[in-house]
Amino acid sequence: MDYPFAEEHRIFRRAVRRFVEEELNPHVPEWEAAGIFPKEIYKRMGDLGFLGIRYPTEYGGANADIWSAVVFWEELGRCRSRGLTMSVLVHTDMSSPYLAQWGSSSLKEKYLPAMIAGEKVGAIALTEPGGGSDLSRIRTIAKKRGAHYILNGSKTFITNALNADLFFTLCKTDPTAGARGFSMLIVEKGARGFEVRKLSKKLGMHASDWGELSFENCAVPAENLIGEEHQGFYYSMQGLQNERFAACVSFIASTQQAIEDAIKYAQEREVFGQRLSELQITRHKLAKAQTKVEAARQLLYHTARLIEHSADVTKEVSMCKAFCADVACEVADESLQIHGGYGYTDEYDISRFYRDIRLWKIGAGTTEVMYEIIAKRMGI
Ligand SMILES: Cc1cc2nc3c(=O)[nH]c(=O)nc-3n(C[C@H](O)[C@H](O)[C@H](O)COP(=O)(O)OP(=O)(O)OC[C@H]3O[C@@H](n4cnc5c(N)ncnc54)[C@H](O)[C@@H]3O)c2cc1C
Repeated sequence: MDYPFAEEHRIFRRAVRRFVEEELNPHVPEWEAAGIFPKEIYKRMGDLGFLGIRYPTEYGGANADIWSAVVFWEELGRCRSRGLTMSVLVHTDMSSPYLAQWGSSSLKEKYLPAMIAGEKVGAIALTEPGGGSDLSRIRTIAKKRGAHYILNGSKTFITNALNADLFFTLCKTDPTAGARGFSMLIVEKGARGFEVRKLSKKLGMHASDWGELSFENCAVPAENLIGEEHQGFYYSMQGLQNERFAACVSFIASTQQAIEDAIKYAQEREVFGQRLSELQITRHKLAKAQTKVEAARQLLYHTARLIEHSADVTKEVSMCKAFCADVACEVADESLQIHGGYGYTDEYDISRFYRDIRLWKIGAGTTEVMYEIIAKRMGI
């Protein structure tokens, strides 16, 4: 039984899996070495209908349900470059949703069809050198001057910095108003006063390009404001739920793949006259890993059901983020251990998975911040 998926989801799953196996995975070593993947991949995914799964048909989307999105996230999670997975998710689920959910009709008309077609790539710019977890500390300021906002400040650790065309930028429009003084602007690549600087190599997620942004008296058309002025903080708090959830679903699918890899290796490798998979300790390690992944997956599916019924899922998403990251890191460690010395080489994907997945305790809100949110929602 493939509950909760229907036949249409299974057909879609086969299509995404074929794309990942045939058009992405063969190029992974090359893109990981380059620290970026070709922008044309977005265009190809747009042509295949992968970039607007839940967006309205009038803008080129498929208006499909949450389970179709889950299928897409899971299959994209099986890309052997989790960096590519992350970059695509930044486009589909971490930047464009602000436009789809809160953008004015004219702003949506201006950018959403091009984002769904993969002709314009999105990035989300929240983090600054002085503030990641604590967004109240951001210093980027936008002052309204006639038909423009004049933007000054900087951002760091921005995924897709080199490939992106549209930067969804959180800034302060009233620095004296606390959480009620933030706004979100779409800044176009190439705008005067806007510069991107590539960042150095990171521990994992190599095919995902990243950089620093600087804004110096950068004039952004006032029409590029997302939703209402001064509501940016609330939009980001809500937007982060989708961002975290999408990535959790993808990375638990990657974790499932790591278990499959470990099983394959254990069945092939012989030690002391028997297969590694015949040793009870190996069998138990794998069984324990599978149990944890199944528990994580059921928490994700439970949360998807709540999303289907438009519930507030802040607590559940925070639980998913903290729990799934722990499970993924533990499974990465055990799966690498099963590979022995070969797990420490780049001959097997497990070493890349081990490096990639460590980000998940940090990116899009750290595990510590997730437990703070959960504790507050528990009333403590
Ligand atoms: C590869 C990568 C890609 C990224 N992509 C993007 C992107 O596209 N866009 C973007 O905006 N940002 C991006 N980020 C930034 C990421 O979201 C931040 O790094 C993250 O939110 C943590 O912020 P920080 O690095 O400033 O750490 P800090 O906030 O300085 O945290 C340092 C430590 O303090 C802990 N801590 C903080 N507050 C509390 C608390 N209240 N209680 C207990 N402990 C606490 C944290 O958990 C952490 O362990 C990316 C980061 C990486 C590494």
